[in-house]
Amino acid sequence: MGSPSFRNGLVYLILLAMLGAFLFSSVTRNSESVNEVQIKDLNVIATQINDGDIASIKVQGDELEIHYRHSDRIGFARKESGVSLTDTFTRLGITADELRDVEITFSPPSRWENWGIILGTILPIVLIGAFFFFVMRQAQGAGNQAFSFGKSRARVITSDKPTVTFDDVAGAEEAKEELEEVVEFLQEPEKFASLGARIPKGVLMVGQPGTGKTLMAKAVAGEAGVPFFSISGSEFVEMFVGVGASRVRDLFGQAKSNSPCIIFIDEIDAVGRHRGAGLGGSHDEREQTLNQILVEMDGFDTDTNIIIIAATNRPDILDPALLRPGRFDRQVVMDRPDVRGREAIFNVHVRGKPLADDVNLATLARLTPGFVGADIENLINEAAILAARRNKRLIGMSELQEAIERVQMGPERRSRLMSPAEKKLTAYHEAGHAVVSYFLQHTDPVQKVTIVPRGMAGGYVMPLFDEEAVNSRNRLRDQLAFFLGGRSAEEVVFGTVTTGASNDMEQATNLARTMVASLGMSDGLGLLTFGQRDELIFLGREISEQHNYSEDIAEQIDNEVRKLITEAHERARQILTRQREKLEELAKRLQEDETVDAVEFKALMVDTAPATAAS
Ligand code: ADP
Ligand code: MG
Ligand code: ZN
Repeated sequence: MGSPSFRNGLVYLILLAMLGAFLFSSVTRNSESVNEVQIKDLNVIATQINDGDIASIKVQGDELEIHYRHSDRIGFARKESGVSLTDTFTRLGITADELRDVEITFSPPSRWENWGIILGTILPIVLIGAFFFFVMRQAQGAGNQAFSFGKSRARVITSDKPTVTFDDVAGAEEAKEELEEVVEFLQEPEKFASLGARIPKGVLMVGQPGTGKTLMAKAVAGEAGVPFFSISGSEFVEMFVGVGASRVRDLFGQAKSNSPCIIFIDEIDAVGRHRGAGLGGSHDEREQTLNQILVEMDGFDTDTNIIIIAATNRPDILDPALLRPGRFDRQVVMDRPDVRGREAIFNVHVRGKPLADDVNLATLARLTPGFVGADIENLINEAAILAARRNKRLIGMSELQEAIERVQMGPERRSRLMSPAEKKLTAYHEAGHAVVSYFLQHTDPVQKVTIVPRGMAGGYVMPLFDEEAVNSRNRLRDQLAFFLGGRSAEEVVFGTVTTGASNDMEQATNLARTMVASLGMSDGLGLLTFGQRDELIFLGREISEQHNYSEDIAEQIDNEVRKLITEAHERARQILTRQREKLEELAKRLQEDETVDAVEFKALMVDTAPATAAS
């Protein structure tokens, strides 16, 4: 983007220089003419001839250049065109005799003279015009598009370098299977055409940011060995009106001359929004761009081997016209990876990195629920940086685990000073969570307990998630008790509660509400679910909740929620009262060492025979 604006600068400079030179030259010509006299009235010349003042007259066309005897002045005059010099003098009343002493020379009329006049009058107009033209263009084109607006900025990754393959995309086996077909079609279109099969034109990749949509699209091109044209939906809209559509035309034009190939449209929701829908208002430019995409897709001949892959994380807002058969009629979902998927992604990204022997990728996968591919790539990079800063030659488990916490909660805040009282309170709070978790049957094992603050949290218990476990009612009930463990410990030990428990309470309330209203897990309300939720299941996001129940039911829901929480609270308190010794021991250790790992924690807990609480 640097070169066009540089070129523009150059054009400016040249134009300015030319204008300057012109102005300068016209100024200097005027100053030279001190000795030059323009003679308008030819009778003046007649008088001068009569007085014998004139030495010579040079005639060039109609121009007369008059040289004087006693002065170095030069006079200029113009005779009437079409009238000969002799006739002119006769009209002025000068006889041939009077002219005898005046030397008269003729030279052919100069072309340059005429050109000079033309240039002198037209050039400045042209220059000023050009100057303004460029200024206007510059202003319109936002600085860098003056020479190439309308051209799509699709980048070509040529087919001779298909570096990414399906092997580089881990944990998305179903998506790969679906796309295998696309690869086959790009490689051997005849096979499908001979059977009269309608070839897929568009594939829509749906998934949260960082789940590998772009990577997967590239891998399809890599596997098939075809060129990959990519453009982002937001690039279509950023420019001024009319350009989006012409970019689409240009992009498809480029692609057609490079077929077979893949066109990748990232963030298609930026242009493909439901037309005329309220969100963001109607936007002509966007609609034109979208229409052009539809026109181009429909205009494909069946023998054009182009597959269009589009990516979005908002399939719900796409215009239905995009999803019609013959357009993006195939959807491939790039899900958040599960434990096995994450382990596979870890495997891909630790390739070529020096790992210590203690690194266990399966454990890492269990420590990173909710992480997507991009997060995992990022965390391995963080771990490598940590290892380098610690002057290690290998990346160890401790670096990886720290990197996870960093990515999840932000950096440690070791510098934050805790008063001894605050430290003691936090130690009991976190120990409460951990002890409750240990003595419940359906909770995840504790991987680490710490009172070193990180991000917003004052301390935390890190569970080793078991995603295989079914979210049964018992598991969720135990989860509730685990959330309340910190607060309960504060109550049991100090008899009061602090504000540190507020986040726990929020989590507990949300979980209890979901159990009652959506999962049918309450005694009183049974199997009914309440509240219509607009939720994107695989995106795990709740957009809105409609209250489709009465005040009466709302009250019952509140009662059931309260019941669940009270019960969980009771169970947590019971465990902590019974296991007071363990709680004290762990809290003491935390105050000394700040962090207790899984092995140490277990050793502390099994010290005496564990008494399992009634569930
Ligand atoms: P999206 O386009 O869905 O936002 P990207 O394809 O840009 O995500 O992913 C960003 C990076 O995350 C990729 O370059 C890759 O390194 C990593 N990544 C994401 N998903 C995976 C995966 N399934 N396997 C391996 N790496 C992945
Ligand atoms: Mg992307
Ligand atoms: Zn807590």
